[in-house]
Order: sequence, then C-alpha cells, then structure tokens
Amino acid sequence: MPRRVLILGGTAEARALAATLTQDPGLHVISSLAGRVTNPRLPEGEVRLGGFGGPDGLSAYLTTQNIQAVIDATHPFAEKMTASATEATTRTRTPYLILRRPAWHPTPQDHWHPAPSLTTAAETLRTSPHQRVFLTTGRRSLPAFTPLTTRWFLARSVDPPDLPVPPNVHILLARGPYTVPGERHLLQTHDIDVLITKNSGGPLTTAKLTAARELNLPVIMIERPALPDDVPRTETVEEAARWLLSR
Ligand code: NAP
Repeated sequence: MPRRVLILGGTAEARALAATLTQDPGLHVISSLAGRVTNPRLPEGEVRLGGFGGPDGLSAYLTTQNIQAVIDATHPFAEKMTASATEATTRTRTPYLILRRPAWHPTPQDHWHPAPSLTTAAETLRTSPHQRVFLTTGRRSLPAFTPLTTRWFLARSVDPPDLPVPPNVHILLARGPYTVPGERHLLQTHDIDVLITKNSGGPLTTAKLTAARELNLPVIMIERPALPDDVPRTETVEEAARWLLSR
C-alpha cells in the first residue's frame, strides 16, 4: 500500500514538491488548497479544495484518510493554517514538516522599513510623506490601508477584491512571475513613491524589490509571522522530499 502524504499547498514550492513526490510509486500524494483563488494552478497528483474546519476538522481528516505524513508548504503568511496543522498533527501524532522558502533580506542599497503587521505598515505610511503607493499585500489586506484617503494606491492582486474599493484605489489584476523591466515600468508610469509588500520570499515576485532599489524607492516590508516552536522545518523542496523518504 502506498504511504498517504498530505501537502498543504497554495505555493510554487508545494507544486514542485507534489511533482517530485508523485514520481515515487510508494507514495500517494494529496495536495490541499484553500480554494479561494479562481483558476488556481493545480499540482500533480490528487487535489482537495477548501478548509478542513480548524484543528478538529483536520484531525478528523488525517485519521479518516489515513494520512501518514503532512508537509506544510503553505505561504509564509498562512498563519492560521500552520497553527491548525501544528495542533492537529500533534494530536494525531502524524509526522509533520514545515517547508518555508527563505525570506528576502535587504542589500545596502535598499531602503526598507520593517513592519511587524499590516496595521503597523498602515501606520508607517500614515506618518510618512509618501503619497502614491504600490500595494502588493493581497486583496484581503485592503481594509487596513483604504481609510488613508489622502493616499493613492495601486493594489495588485490575483483576483478582484470581494468588496467595492474606494476611488483612491486602483486595482491591477495580475499573477506573477514578474520581470524587473515590467516592474520598473509600472512604478514609473504610476509615479509610485513607496512600495508596501509582505516578506514572502522566493524568486517569483522579487522583481519589484529590484525595481524599487534601482529607482531608490522606500519599501515598507511586512515581516513574517513567527513559526511554531519545536516543529521540524526546511527551506527547500529537496530537503522536504528527503525528510519524507527517510522516514
Ligand atoms: P490562513 O489565513 O492561514 O488560512 C485561513 C483558513 O483557510 C485556514 O484556517 C484553513 O481553513 C483554510 N486554508 C488555508 N490554507 C489551506 C490549504 N492549503 N488547504 C486547505 N485549507 C486551507 O491562510 P491564507 O493566508 O488565507 O492563505 C490561503 C491559501 O493561499 C494558502 O494555501 C496559502 O498557501 C495560499 N497563499 C497565501 C498567501 C498570503 O499572502 N497569505 C499568498 C499566496 C498564497 P480551516 O481552518 O477551515 O481548515
């Protein structure tokens, strides 16, 4: 019987891991997506969609589906899913690994202002002289910023926001990866004077940081939430695959 493995997904690393693990006939790979994005990029292997219903629902899923290992390859800001997976795998004694891509770090040429949360990022903006903002923190973060009605926002997201946006917000629907010339052009044509983003890490969305550096623009960088203590973790797909195969 192949071992049943659950990948908590929604990232490029999760898809790469699924592509690697589905090559192994000794594994049955199930990838889970939150199901919020229209037309998500689907991983190889079996895919399930939608929340589990918190730690209770996930514990029940792990037991009834006879899951023998969980690899959490969710986005670094998917804090609730990781908390829920930590609790459910502890309860059910299911082996659990967190796969998180490395964070970005500033170069000496960057002008980053770290912010521990969306709220502090909005406060940093409010007390700054900057007026025209490129916002890449996701459609669900808009309510933290839109009360700043004296600022103009270019807000990029994969899907449209659920609620109507005020006139000081222009929505740009797009999905990465992005290029440095493309990002530079965007910043220049919209006369952007500050970038607000999350420290997602990874190569697919780093071009905006290079373009901001080239144009000498400040970046309000929202820092990652802390990971739970005492959970094994890795930064690469290869190490995650090795962890699983060595068990
Ligand atoms: P979140 O706040 O941690 O999750 C909220 C709830 O959504 C979770 O409690 C869970 O519901 C459900 N959920 C999240 N990820 C899931 C998954 N992979 N499979 C099944 N259910 C999931 O997460 P989020 O920030 O909304 O992110 C949702 C998804 O988008 C994640 O898969 C993440 O990898 C991806 N993503 C997030 C970001 C970001 O900036 N946050 C960026 C790119 C991609 P239940 O409690 O009912 O189980």
